[in-house]
Amino acid sequence: MRRLTHTLAFTALAACFSSAFAGGADMKPPLERLPGWAVPEAYTLDLRVDPAQTRFAGVTTIRVELKKAADHVWMHGKDLKVSSVRVIDAKGVSHAAQYVNAAPKQGVVRIDFGKTLQPQELKLVFDYSAPFNHQLQGLYKVTRDGRPYAMTQMEPISARYAFPSFDEPGFKTPYKIVLTVPNDEVAVANTAIAKSSKDGKGWKTLDFKTTQPLPTYLVAFAVGPWDVVSGGEIKPNAWRKEPIRLRGIAPHGEGSRIHIALSETPVIIQTLEQYYGFGYPFGKLDLLAAPDFSAGAMENAGLVTFRDWLMLMDKNSPSDAVRNSFNVQAHELAHQWTGDTVTLDWWNDIWLNEAFATWMQQKVTAKVHPEYRADLDRVSRAEGAMGNDSLVSARKIRQPITGNGDIQTAFDGITYQKGAAVIGMFEHYVGVDTFRKGMRAYIQAHKFGNAKASDLVGAIDKAAGKGEAFKHAFNSFLDQSGVPMVSTRLDCSGTHPVLHLTQDRYLPLGSSGDPNRLWGIPVCVRTGAGKAGVQCQMLDSKTATMQLSGGQCPAWYMPNADARGYYRFSMDKTDLAKLNGHLGALNDAEKLAYADAVKAAFHRGDIDASAAMEAVRRLAPSKTRQVALAPLDTFAWIWKHEAQTDAQRAALRKLASEAYLPRLQKLGYVKRKGESSDDALTRSALAGFLGVGVKLPAVRAALLQQADRALEKNAKGRLNLAAANPDLLSEDLTVAVEEKGKPVVDALIAELNKTTDADRRNAMLAALSHAPGAQAERVWNFALSPQVKVGEMFRLLTGHRDTQQGRDALWTWFKGHYDQVVKRTGTFASGYVPNLAGGGGCSMADAERLQAFFTPRLDDLPGADRGLAQTTESIKLCAALKKAQDPSAITR
Ligand SMILES: [Zn+2]
Repeated sequence: MRRLTHTLAFTALAACFSSAFAGGADMKPPLERLPGWAVPEAYTLDLRVDPAQTRFAGVTTIRVELKKAADHVWMHGKDLKVSSVRVIDAKGVSHAAQYVNAAPKQGVVRIDFGKTLQPQELKLVFDYSAPFNHQLQGLYKVTRDGRPYAMTQMEPISARYAFPSFDEPGFKTPYKIVLTVPNDEVAVANTAIAKSSKDGKGWKTLDFKTTQPLPTYLVAFAVGPWDVVSGGEIKPNAWRKEPIRLRGIAPHGEGSRIHIALSETPVIIQTLEQYYGFGYPFGKLDLLAAPDFSAGAMENAGLVTFRDWLMLMDKNSPSDAVRNSFNVQAHELAHQWTGDTVTLDWWNDIWLNEAFATWMQQKVTAKVHPEYRADLDRVSRAEGAMGNDSLVSARKIRQPITGNGDIQTAFDGITYQKGAAVIGMFEHYVGVDTFRKGMRAYIQAHKFGNAKASDLVGAIDKAAGKGEAFKHAFNSFLDQSGVPMVSTRLDCSGTHPVLHLTQDRYLPLGSSGDPNRLWGIPVCVRTGAGKAGVQCQMLDSKTATMQLSGGQCPAWYMPNADARGYYRFSMDKTDLAKLNGHLGALNDAEKLAYADAVKAAFHRGDIDASAAMEAVRRLAPSKTRQVALAPLDTFAWIWKHEAQTDAQRAALRKLASEAYLPRLQKLGYVKRKGESSDDALTRSALAGFLGVGVKLPAVRAALLQQADRALEKNAKGRLNLAAANPDLLSEDLTVAVEEKGKPVVDALIAELNKTTDADRRNAMLAALSHAPGAQAERVWNFALSPQVKVGEMFRLLTGHRDTQQGRDALWTWFKGHYDQVVKRTGTFASGYVPNLAGGGGCSMADAERLQAFFTPRLDDLPGADRGLAQTTESIKLCAALKKAQDPSAITR
């Protein structure tokens, strides 16, 4: 997630705050962390919430330990209208206090006592009201099918929109939530209802059980005409005495579609309990399908919230939706241990939540749905993160936080995917059982409290007994950005074969980064099949040699066995030629690492298009979808940025057609009874690549034929979308939009206004983003209309990036509609806005106009400084590679 406000030179300000506060005289608001001498111990949130209104109101009471004599405390609150604040001292005497919006942009407030109070336990009582938020943060309102709903999204720093708070993860306290809502509304919260009463005037008051200690960002409640569906009970086991009451909470009329998701929950929970040796601790569990949502899902203790399409499914749902649903649910439930039971101390350690949930999700998926191949997701997602991590402007896993913008941008691929890959690498290094022992000790030691990176690394080290070198190695990946590159050369001239290893930092062509960086890398090399064929060594110096066991000179080797290592590799030419001759001996994960090595070499300018396309010929025949499709990233780059003539495009089309078309034809375009979800996913990926990407006429004709049936109107004027293969609906409609323009755009916009089904909406939105010519602008304007949900807006603005003409048109529109885009985005995804405006650019002019436009606007767009730096750097790297590559290599 990303949102809220950054401005000013935070670093300089922050330095003077901390010193000023020691004296207590300076009243500058703390824009980084709260000072820590006022600590919340418990909250009561007593709110009156009617989603039909525009505002909500209530009383928040916070018990606070005042640790030093003070005449004020610092807290958070944003857009709150506080009518009174009372401070009740330890003797029970009430004092009127003042609520001062000290830094409104950041949401920092000061409570002035009017006199100095000695250290003691206080109660702060706030009477207030606030508007329902319309940017999906805090307590926000959405209307679906004419019915209003109110629900929360607090992470990372939006609790301050919903109630006065010490809105930082380090403060964990119990919460008592009391909601007064209209009689006919359903209300849910983190815990079950303890008691309820009605006032006889149309309102009921629901008193929820007190929560376990939670940080503000995990507080959750929702009010609306929800369908509530029982998922039964998750039985007790060795780790938990009480059953867990499981329920699905769906928008009105959608309850029957939440059963598929609920049917997966018990086995996920039990798998996690078994791993951690620690029972689910939050009593009941509700999974809620949100009508509109900012992130994918949110791990609120006991009330996990999801985008609707991740929860609502039936037998006709697209295969990727079903897989995503499982994976995201496993991720959120994994958080109930890492994130909820143990919470990060401060935002620089958000990886303790997100990297661990990502890593654990892969474990759960591998166990429960081995056919989903989480082992390959692990590799391809880590390789995806390497692209971003190769930028000079990349974040570190533990990036220091200098203001709200850094908090918003911390939820990126570095935290999630690189973090998960680094954890997996060190898990493999110490051994899976040893690592689990460390994890169990970590959860026990910090349950219902907070932790830092050193606590985690220390717990693993204690279990493994590997000492300082291990900690140093782990920290070398946490505290510095960048992708290590290991260069290898086999030397069989001596009595024993040895592998010479050298480490550098991987930098793409045109990068200004410093290549000298050292990591502690567990390097594992394969020289033969199976476990016995793998040898590992910690590489923590610039160069080292690895003595290869067995005595014989191996016929080939693979420098990243099982693709466990978070590093790229570059092989001596002779060695690479030998590996090319033995690709069949590699497992699928290693083939993905091989594909990445080719991609890395291409982006470094080491090989040309012709050599890069060799990988397509080598890998496309693989039976495994992920391996066969792995070279398509580089292919797409060459197609978009390098191919200039009809002959070059024809050559690429021929290659694509020879490598992939027979496979698509064999699968056909119609969903077959009992086919595997992998076949379905292969079909949509190939149809997208061949039909929409390189535009093979035969594929387009087949997709168009299916689209024509889907676009037929019935008697009620509705489209017949069920006529299309649900896995191809997006590709079908995209081709129809591209080929036919206005009539199809008209039909889809009309249908969107009547469709609540999220998968169908997503397919239509994806297709509309391809609208050609004048229709493109119409679609972009439509993105700003209330018919398009806030969380859907970006989907309509992502097309037209493959050509300079398309990018120019989008840029012109964007500049003219900037204020409207930002108003809808709010502070939620503002770090992403520069990418939205200029992502996909590939010329110095693209980079310069982006910089010129955003630089004066950064103060009002939290997190956009990093978004701008990364987008600009990516554009410049693309331009440098384009300049260096010789397009004639395509036809060579
Ligand atoms: Zn997460």
